Amino acid sequence: MSKKPPYNDAPTPMLRQYQSIKAQHPDAILLFRLGDFYEMFYDDAVVASKHLEITLTSRNKNDPNPIPLCGVPYHSIEPYIAKLLEKGEKVAICDQVEDPRQAKGVVKREVTRVVTPGVVADGLGLDATADNFLAGIALDEKGQFGLALADISTGLFQADTFDTPEAFLEELARAEPRELLVNEACAQHPSLMARIQRLLPNVLISTDDGEPAVDALEALTGGAALIERMPVAAQAAARTLSYLQQTQRGNLRHITAISSGRAAYAMRLDEATKRNLELTRTMPAGEREGSLLHALDRTTTALGSRLLKRWILYPLIDVDAIEERLEAVASILSEPGLLRALPETLREIYDLERITTRVALGSANARDLLALRESLAAARLVREQLADSAGLIAQHAGCIDPADDLIEAIAQTIADEPPLTIREGGIIRNGIDEGLDELRHIIDHGKDYIASIEAAERKRTGISSLKIRYNKVFGYYLEVTNAHRDKVPADYIRKQTLANAERYITPQLKEREETILGAQEKARALEYDLFVTLRERIAEATPRLQATAEAIAAIDALTGLARIAAEYDYCRPTVDDGSAIDIQGGRHPIVERMDPSVRFVPNDVLLDDTDNRLLLITGPNMAGKSTVMRQSALIVLMAQIGSFVPATSARIGVADRIFTRVGASDALAQGQSTFMVEMSEAATILREAGPKSLVIIDEIGRGTSTFDGLAIAWAVAEDLHDRVRARTLFATHYHELTELALQKTGLRNMHIAVKEWNGEVVFLRRLVPGATSHSYGIQVAKLAGLPEGVIGRATEVLTNLEAGEFDEVGSPRIGGHRATDHAAPAQPAQFQLFTQSPSHEVVTRLHDIDPNTTTPLEALTILQELKKTVTRNS
Ligand code: ADP
Repeated sequence: MSKKPPYNDAPTPMLRQYQSIKAQHPDAILLFRLGDFYEMFYDDAVVASKHLEITLTSRNKNDPNPIPLCGVPYHSIEPYIAKLLEKGEKVAICDQVEDPRQAKGVVKREVTRVVTPGVVADGLGLDATADNFLAGIALDEKGQFGLALADISTGLFQADTFDTPEAFLEELARAEPRELLVNEACAQHPSLMARIQRLLPNVLISTDDGEPAVDALEALTGGAALIERMPVAAQAAARTLSYLQQTQRGNLRHITAISSGRAAYAMRLDEATKRNLELTRTMPAGEREGSLLHALDRTTTALGSRLLKRWILYPLIDVDAIEERLEAVASILSEPGLLRALPETLREIYDLERITTRVALGSANARDLLALRESLAAARLVREQLADSAGLIAQHAGCIDPADDLIEAIAQTIADEPPLTIREGGIIRNGIDEGLDELRHIIDHGKDYIASIEAAERKRTGISSLKIRYNKVFGYYLEVTNAHRDKVPADYIRKQTLANAERYITPQLKEREETILGAQEKARALEYDLFVTLRERIAEATPRLQATAEAIAAIDALTGLARIAAEYDYCRPTVDDGSAIDIQGGRHPIVERMDPSVRFVPNDVLLDDTDNRLLLITGPNMAGKSTVMRQSALIVLMAQIGSFVPATSARIGVADRIFTRVGASDALAQGQSTFMVEMSEAATILREAGPKSLVIIDEIGRGTSTFDGLAIAWAVAEDLHDRVRARTLFATHYHELTELALQKTGLRNMHIAVKEWNGEVVFLRRLVPGATSHSYGIQVAKLAGLPEGVIGRATEVLTNLEAGEFDEVGSPRIGGHRATDHAAPAQPAQFQLFTQSPSHEVVTRLHDIDPNTTTPLEALTILQELKKTVTRNS
């Protein structure tokens, strides 16, 4: 980064002012109003010009130390602020607080607004389809983590406790907060902070050591219970509240409750799985389109879309809860009329949660109230449409507040096409307030009014030429020509004498004048007051509106799932606590839609806790291994959010967790090598998976040498089968692994069928039992266009290699138990390297590997050490 200010010993008075303001906001990008621009200086300019893709210039170019500078036009700063927030920056907006023409010296300036990414209630690039979380964290001496998540734009507030850093980081990755609040204590854990930053590269980390708002937390529904049951979570929540109070200047009335315990009823989902299964974003592009969320989102409201995202990230593990949702989807699906009508009605509903927030925070305008009225009326209609429903749907429908009082109040009060601003009038209907009607009458009839006074005075005085006129100095006045001066009544007050006329005023005329001129102003102020009174009345109903919003979100999400099921012919899965995952005719929800000209080939997958614990899938590259594995994981996950699934039938024994280790990932940018990422993902799986888990391993051990890779893949598969006993789909290009099936009762070989035809390979996309004899790598390479000469040579080399495939007793190449076969260990071809002339040391060390007690990583270390020894010795 460039030099820190001040660059110059003698900055101008304006720059001195800049520096003193900047000193109060050292962690924010300061937008400094200068004429028609907001300017940024020094390091802020360097950083912001990059983020905003605007030109970086400098202020005093001829100076040996020019000051970096960039600026944006004052009238359109909102998108620029949004962009800076998106990049994880905090922004302070500094305005001119006096009229520059009246200023003596430098115009007075002050920071009028500070915005941070996690505290955006409205506008500023807020994504309608995602929660916008501020996260607060706390740590206690027992190593427990508290995590609080608050979305000020909707009032959503929750907190939980986590026992391990992994569980905590997982949750953080799931919530994707835009801003993270830490205190001094957290800063003492640099490795934790580094992991957080790797996980959330765009998060703004704010430090706050203010007093936790414990009283405010206690006042929330669920607050006191949280303090008692989950002290660390409560600590995080209280700190989050206090930060929100500071930034929102105390107004948090729409945060009425705090919930907790989500971790207990939802499936744990680590960051790798969320990423690998492309649940909410594609990999590596990071786009929503192409993700599971995009494929399943047929909601019509922003509320529903946000809830669906939460459902996908928090699949359920309780069979009854899952069944309840499935039943709800089924019930909508079984009524075609409802399936058509509900989305039509839901479409009329605006972002009820965020409008409610604007109402509560006092930033809603008249159009927001109209949108609220329309939304509430549509919600009421949804309630009516669902009058005959049962179960979960009926429960949600029952939570929709008919809100007749509010709908009525808005309809009666707010004009049909109000302007955006609430200070210019034109927002309140006639007939609501007598005072306002009178004022409007005066405004509309101002001229008539004066004319009527003129007529009355002419009559009273008998002066037919008497006129009422207006000028800026006196306002309204009566003018009488000199010829009639003697008829002027005593109550006229003379103001001015002209050559041929006199000008007068009367108290009555002045009073009228005040009425007319003040009427406009008064009407505006009165309209504003009436509007604010109504808005305040609605704000009192915040909890009712929030309950309605929550119910609508759920109904919308369920309706969306029903629509998708109808559109793509999904089936209702049977979900139970058993151990079988039995998918017949399963399809990949995204791949099957990709290219309508390609017929997607459905596949069956059976996993259980006996003979089909681990399916070892082989087949050439591009055969469809990843697809069938991912679709199985997605089908399980979809079933557990309560969605129908792309299959002809599916029985899903609930998975407590889904783990994935997939291909080479893009974590290089996060500073880890591909191999490291691969291994740490595998380590997590072996450490945390259990018999109820579903594990997807799509290639392992590719990021290292063949021997290492094969050894690791072997050991991992063995450990998953023997000790972890997780239901596992394991794809590998190491054919040697298929020999594991000879030893492992719960392991089955499967492969994706291909046909060889004229030396070319044809993909059949069918998953069938048995191992492939052939990896067709060379054929695939040929398809990919590798030069003929190279293909020819590769075929030759392959033949040479394959000539030495089996050992003299015909045993499996890798599978021999070293511990039981002392005399002539049946070593894999690859490991024969170790035993060609086994030294005593080698034999002893090999015997250290006990399949029952040695962890794969230990085994790996031993093998690697041995390899070094052997290489050294040979
Ligand atoms: P692998 O993991 O074996 O290398 P993939 O699963 O990545 O292969 O599949 C390669 C491509 O084949 C996919 O991108 C998809 O277009 C197509 N494909 C895979 N499975 C099927 C299927 N069941 N039906 C139709 N096309 C498929």
